[in-house]
Amino acid sequence: MTGTSAEGVYLRLLGSVGANAGDIGRGIIAAHSPFVGSAYQGLVVVGKHSRAGMQRRRRRAGLPRKRRRPRADSTSSREPKSGPRPVPNHYGRLSAGDTDRVRPYGPCRGGSFPYSNPMEGASGTSADAPDRARRESWVAPATLVLMMPPAPARETTRMQPLVLEPNQPSRFYRGGSRIANFRGLPETGANVPEDWVASATPLFGARDLGLTRLPSGQLLTDAVASDPLAWLGPDHLRRFGRHTELLVKLLDAGERLPIHAHPDRDFAVAHGLDGRHGKSEAWMVLAADNDPVVHLGFSRSVDLSELAGWVSRQEVDAMLQTMHRVPVRAGDTVFVPAGLPHAIGPGILLVEAQEPTDLSVLLEWQGFGIDGLRDGHLGLGLETALRCIDRRAWAPEEIARLHTPSRDGKSSGSLLPAAADPFFRMERWRIAARKTLDAGFSVLVVLAGLGELATSGAAVTPLRAGLTVLTSHATGELELRGSIDVVRCRPPVA
Ligand SMILES: [Zn+2]
Repeated sequence: MTGTSAEGVYLRLLGSVGANAGDIGRGIIAAHSPFVGSAYQGLVVVGKHSRAGMQRRRRRAGLPRKRRRPRADSTSSREPKSGPRPVPNHYGRLSAGDTDRVRPYGPCRGGSFPYSNPMEGASGTSADAPDRARRESWVAPATLVLMMPPAPARETTRMQPLVLEPNQPSRFYRGGSRIANFRGLPETGANVPEDWVASATPLFGARDLGLTRLPSGQLLTDAVASDPLAWLGPDHLRRFGRHTELLVKLLDAGERLPIHAHPDRDFAVAHGLDGRHGKSEAWMVLAADNDPVVHLGFSRSVDLSELAGWVSRQEVDAMLQTMHRVPVRAGDTVFVPAGLPHAIGPGILLVEAQEPTDLSVLLEWQGFGIDGLRDGHLGLGLETALRCIDRRAWAPEEIARLHTPSRDGKSSGSLLPAAADPFFRMERWRIAARKTLDAGFSVLVVLAGLGELATSGAAVTPLRAGLTVLTSHATGELELRGSIDVVRCRPPVA
């Protein structure tokens, strides 16, 4: 079955879409689209069957009438008024038009594709599905309400690079003065240690807080939604949909950050925290006070009960003594895969690239302005949340592979190990005269020097240390001129 959306976008409801619909949740109609994921990969929720319609389809397929199940089993995007939390399905909570929360679904060429339905404990491939008849009875009607990316052929307007203002929501730990210093601006508070740059990600549990406003006053999220092709480019749209796939921060550790970790994608999806992302992150150290260190991973394996004991009793010294202590200096980069416990030492200013979520599990909160027992576990309960922590022993050479020491004087190009490739890119460009960089959604953080950013058809943007500049796909090629040192953060390669 095929259909065309109002925006003229080709949309393909596979003949077997019923199978997919059955897989992702009761009553949800899904469509494969070539604009999400790579060719014919990815699922988009386009609507829901009515209960009567579902029963009609079951009757036609010769299946028994299905009893109504309690709301707790529902995969609906609506929260129940009371009672237990809804059981999230494989895709988190989804609703019609949730194109941003699409999860790539693996290859499905040749009529055979993997499926899994954690709600029913079923998995396999479409070819050997035991309940094929039931799944094929879910053939979706052509009631498409999908808002898809506009067709790639559409003409786009060329966009200027945008110099972004600071965006520093209040946090529970101290810091902010090094960001003000770096940007050459007055200090704005003692608890504004993070500057969320080009953010399409709100703080956990918040609606707008953390989102970046463009110089026009428009939210970046709204701007991208209104012209995703211009902002993100056709390859990114095909691979990831409309999400920017990137969160960049400046972070000033005014005090040592509490020990914490972030869930990976599978954990986040399985627990309904996000439809597709966990939070791996990477740091590039911009400046640091005396003897700066970071703490990364456990040096011996720690079982869950031992970790739970440390956390519930707030035995911070025991945790820190079991973690690797890694000295860093300005120019170093550190990749922190999701799950790895970590803490940033005091006095460090860094640029962070992250998966676009705000998902943190606190292992330490004593002495900080937060109640970790109440607010440190993403609403999952501490026992469940601690299961996202990587508790295995990390050998020193494994930790060394996460840490790339500064290569003074010659570093240009990628700063991160290949393990970071699925999540984001971070490049450093030290330019003596001029250098052309390829087009794409990105954030430039100017570390030092003076220069300018030229693009064809747009006015030149003067660059100086402390500026953060947002570029889009439609900005086109970027020419850096002058004597300038820049970090460029980008989404993963599409
Ligand atoms: Zn972190």
